[in-house]
Amino acid sequence: MRFGRTASGALAFTLCAMTIGYFIGVSVNDPQVAHAKKGSRVSPVKASADHEVYYPNTEDLASNEMRIISLGTGMPSGRRSQAASAWLVELGNGDKFLFDVGTGSAANLGSLEIPYDYLDKVFISHLHTDHMGDLPALFIGGAVANRVGPLRVWGPSGSTKRLGLSHSMKHLQEFLAWDIEGRKGRLPATAFQAEVNEFDYNGKNQVIYKKKGVTIRSWPAIHVIDGSVSYSLEWKGLKFVFGGDTYPNKWFIEYAKDADVAIHECMMPPELWVDKYRFPVGRALEVGTQIHTAPEAFGKIMSVVKPRMAIAFHFFNDPDTRFQTYDGIRATYDGPLSMADDLMVWNVTKKEIRVRTVVPIDDAWPPPSARRAPRMDASGMKNVSPEVQGGAYDVIKQNQMIYDRVNKRYGTDFKMRVTK
Ligand SMILES: [Zn+2]
Ligand SMILES: [Zn+2]
Repeated sequence: MRFGRTASGALAFTLCAMTIGYFIGVSVNDPQVAHAKKGSRVSPVKASADHEVYYPNTEDLASNEMRIISLGTGMPSGRRSQAASAWLVELGNGDKFLFDVGTGSAANLGSLEIPYDYLDKVFISHLHTDHMGDLPALFIGGAVANRVGPLRVWGPSGSTKRLGLSHSMKHLQEFLAWDIEGRKGRLPATAFQAEVNEFDYNGKNQVIYKKKGVTIRSWPAIHVIDGSVSYSLEWKGLKFVFGGDTYPNKWFIEYAKDADVAIHECMMPPELWVDKYRFPVGRALEVGTQIHTAPEAFGKIMSVVKPRMAIAFHFFNDPDTRFQTYDGIRATYDGPLSMADDLMVWNVTKKEIRVRTVVPIDDAWPPPSARRAPRMDASGMKNVSPEVQGGAYDVIKQNQMIYDRVNKRYGTDFKMRVTK
């Protein structure tokens, strides 16, 4: 639907450009027109001009290049056109990092058809569901889609043990107990392990990850209760900053300095909370300006930090609402700005920041594993009880036909488990 809007917009623009070209008597930059003028009757089928779109898995990154893709930019409530906060950072050294995995974002991540072995490092800004709600989809869905190793998760502690990442991840696995139990012995056991790295939410610009020339730091954010953090990722002289949900804070001003790309929440104005979200005015003001960062405040922050690209997110980015947010930002900031929507892409080098739209693979299939699967150990495999199995309806003949067909095709000799 989203792409449909873009496509129709592009069509309207093309028609408009052609019309203007016709009336002012100049040729338009259209390969078919160029061919017709030369008298050629050969249809142009070569690669066309750059359309400012990104097709997943068609471009190598340069050794000093960073690619950022927005996988979710919206709100906690489910929405087809905008998932909740999630960001992918890919580096020219092959490393990939996820920052937040908010509700609904797993589908956007899947639409890139990246092997899940590469998507095993997740940094959670805080434990609101719009920032970690699709962890189960990445954890289990990634394992089913051929991730061999554990999911590695970094995130903050809380003011008590119960409010930290470790507690949350332990109970997330409890929440998934039935799911994981039934997959034992059927998929690699390592894929259902979570490596949890909880760090002090109160650390100021503390290093929480350092490997292969990549340094990731964290600092506190001011959001509802203690335990929201912001991150920076530095590599090869490039600096990416991702702010967790926050009231404007001095640490972001200090530690986001020199950022090439600075992502910070920008909550929609209180009027939209009242008019669209049906919030009472008092609550709208609290959410819009006290728990989060208002557009005018976002602009003020960016006017001090001065990144090469400021990215605003955490608002519904609709044709009839985005300008209320945009106008607030522009009241206090006139620098480079992206009003984030899902599936935008930023290619970052020291020389240039290029902003495009991803053409997602809506009907994505799981890519192959990037690692060799370990030898399977079926010893822990569980099945349904004899009592429940006793309710089986007789499809032995039909299943035998399938076994025969498949064994023949793949040269195997598997026997049916259920034979009576
Ligand atoms: Zn949020
Ligand atoms: Zn939040």
